[in-house]
Amino acid sequence: MLFNKIAIIGVGLIGGSLARALRANNQCRTISGYGRSRENLDKAIALGVIDDYSDDMGAVVKDADLVLLATPLASFAPLLEKIKPYVNDKLIITDAGSEKGSVVEAARKIIGDKIKQFVPGHPIAGTEKSGVEASFKELYEDHLVILTPLPENKPEQVKSVSTMWESCGARVVNLDVEYHDKVLAATSHLPHVLAYALVDCLSSMEEEGDVFKFSAGGFRDLTRIAASNPEMWSDICLANKYHLLQLIDRYSSHLDKIKELIVTDDGKGLSQLFSKVRNTRENLK
Ligand code: NAD
Repeated sequence: MLFNKIAIIGVGLIGGSLARALRANNQCRTISGYGRSRENLDKAIALGVIDDYSDDMGAVVKDADLVLLATPLASFAPLLEKIKPYVNDKLIITDAGSEKGSVVEAARKIIGDKIKQFVPGHPIAGTEKSGVEASFKELYEDHLVILTPLPENKPEQVKSVSTMWESCGARVVNLDVEYHDKVLAATSHLPHVLAYALVDCLSSMEEEGDVFKFSAGGFRDLTRIAASNPEMWSDICLANKYHLLQLIDRYSSHLDKIKELIVTDDGKGLSQLFSKVRNTRENLK
């Protein structure tokens, strides 16, 4: 068994799925929860995801081996302030935030030299659903978890966090914080912005009739993620503003290129571009 007790701050899709997987694999004796919705926490107990919860951060964190922050990004700083008084020398703090730069900056500011015990992480797994009811123990199986270890981290604490995710079936890779944020802006944050924009665009056409009634599989495939948690995604967009704004401009230039080919009736150019892209897409693993 890896842990005697872990504390999950935010028992939703991500935190709840970790708790379920650790429990199913017998890797943790006790799992305590902390959250802002008593209703969600009561459900988490009823579903057997956590053993107990409290409004008192001290009671949840004090004797834990590891704390996972799994709430929307903007809540990390105030929650770290609450956790700080209970950080003993053995406690490992980790998180599941989808952006790492702002998280590391806040953690450095708030927990000071205890930063050596903070091992930032990001599971590359999820769905568009939220809350503990959406959590499931298989979520991390065969998925990547990215850790962005800090120079101050002790290797054995990074190892404990890696082992925890691996015990849930995940493959763990280590990346630099800045590189993580640049890559995830491209592969995850930009696609979410595009999905939100596309649905927003079509819903603004309401006066022209119910266009959604005629939506086909392609539209649904492309926009599934526009049903994701709005609070979480607005936090991610603002936290990763620098990389995301560059990518929105870059994407716009690709859209302009296609627009120009259509304006100039350049079927050959369009077909060449679409063939090149199809080839890239088909070769994606
Ligand atoms: P979720 O909405 O399912 O769960 C979040 C939980 O945090 C909820 O139970 C909510 O009540 C609680 N919470 C919210 N604000 C709080 C606060 N101020 N104090 C205490 N509890 C609070 O969200 P999720 O999908 O589990 O995402 C959690 C984190 O994981 C986010 O930081 C997100 O960036 C990251 N993440 C999400 C995904 C995904 O696909 N959903 C993937 C990887 C990482």
